[in-house]
Amino acid sequence: MSKIFDAIFLDRDGTISHDPYGYINSLPDYNFFDYTFEALEILNKYTDKFVIVTNQSGLASGKIDLENLEEINSFIYQEFDKRDLPLKKIYFAENYDESYQSMRKPGIGMFAKAKEEFDIDLSKSLMIGDSVVDMQVGDRLGMKTIFLLTGMGKDYLDEVKSKCKANLISNNLLEAAKDIVLI
Ligand SMILES: [Mg+2]
Repeated sequence: MSKIFDAIFLDRDGTISHDPYGYINSLPDYNFFDYTFEALEILNKYTDKFVIVTNQSGLASGKIDLENLEEINSFIYQEFDKRDLPLKKIYFAENYDESYQSMRKPGIGMFAKAKEEFDIDLSKSLMIGDSVVDMQVGDRLGMKTIFLLTGMGKDYLDEVKSKCKANLISNNLLEAAKDIVLI
C-alpha cells in the first residue's frame, strides 16, 4: 500500500492518551488509550512519519514541570520505538500566544519546524486531534484533518462543525484509523 500521507500529525492529550485534568504533570498519570497502538499500526500503513504536536500551556502557568514533561516524552518515544512506529519528534508549545506564527496551536510554529526538520509536505499530511485548535491549524496549512470525540472532543463538536472543514469526525483514534479510507 502506498504511503498516502507524507506525515500524520497527532495531538497528544485526548487523542493518543487520556486527558483527565486538562494537564498531566507526572508519568504515572500519563496513560495511552487501550486501542492507541492498534490504531497507530493501522495508520502506519498510510505514512512513514508520525509527529506529535502538543500545546502544553501548563508549562507557562507552572502546572507542568519541564523535567516531568521530558520524562513523559521519553516514555512515548520508547513505546513507539518498541513497535517500530516511526515517531519523528514530539513538539510542544509552552506559551499562550496563539498568533499565526506561534508555536501554540492554532499557530503554525510546530508544523513549520517539523516541515523544515523532516522535509514534510504539509499539504500532503494529516492532522488528528480532539480540539478546535487542532482543526484550525490543519485548515490553515491545507492539511487533511480528522476530529476525534475523545478527550475534549464532544465539547468542541459544535464549534468544529461551524468553523472548520474536518474531513472526518470519529469516535476515537481506532475508528479514525479504520475509516481513513473515507477521506
Ligand atoms: Mg487534545
